[in-house]
Amino acid sequence: MIVNKDFITRNASRTWAFFLDLIFPIECLGCGREGRWLCEDCFKKINLKPKQYCLHCKKANDFGQFCLPCQVIYSLDGVWIAALYDELLISQAIKKLKYYFLSGLADDLSRLMILSVDKLLEQGRISKFGLRSGVDWSNFKRAAGLPLAVLNFYDNLVVPVPLSRKRLRWRGFNQAELLARRVAEKYGLELNSGNLIRVKHKKAQAKLNEIHRLENIKNCFVWRGGNLNKKNIILVDDVVTTGATLNECAKILKANGAGEVFGLVVAKG
Ligand SMILES: [Zn+2]
Ligand SMILES: [Zn+2]
Repeated sequence: MIVNKDFITRNASRTWAFFLDLIFPIECLGCGREGRWLCEDCFKKINLKPKQYCLHCKKANDFGQFCLPCQVIYSLDGVWIAALYDELLISQAIKKLKYYFLSGLADDLSRLMILSVDKLLEQGRISKFGLRSGVDWSNFKRAAGLPLAVLNFYDNLVVPVPLSRKRLRWRGFNQAELLARRVAEKYGLELNSGNLIRVKHKKAQAKLNEIHRLENIKNCFVWRGGNLNKKNIILVDDVVTTGATLNECAKILKANGAGEVFGLVVAKG
């Protein structure tokens, strides 16, 4: 009998995930209560990032966009960061999702992303009442400063940062895709998880310093879809560190016609 090698690897990782569930019964990472990875009480204790900022110079702003002087060195327009990584629960949850294959954690982590997007949308809300009851120029002025990805939020396309095929086979799922899927479903946004491809996987980014990260990630992605026709994109990943990976994806997406590209991540590592 000829057995396909991919088939064995895929099924081995599923069996492995099954045994991990037995070894790690579902209990809250915060208090140990059984039934959920993050119980409601512990979930409520997690602080959302109070203010977004320019990822490069860390100057606070409303919509996580790069400020003017920093913008020129990025293809990415900005990053939306849901929570603070130094919250022990967050760093634990992300590690467990990624390295212990606990895909159930994607529900809780994507909930944090959704709460933080809700906050962005609330800040970006143009009061319809204000416009109807006469021209309120402050609303127009606010609209002018808004990124299009916020102003026209419901037209965004959601794209997860891909894993290489090799890594995907090994892990059995792409954690960024699990998060992206839940965010897209929540807001009724279009999801594209098949056309941005990671073509080579060099060294794990986590082990490299900033300069080596930039070199390591170059030319790692291709877009296999059609022209993106100015579509604005929300690029989803679990964590952002220097932004090198998100930026490299944004470069490829823009080379293929994308409008604005904003990263959306659970936390900054
Ligand atoms: Zn708990
Ligand atoms: Zn800046």
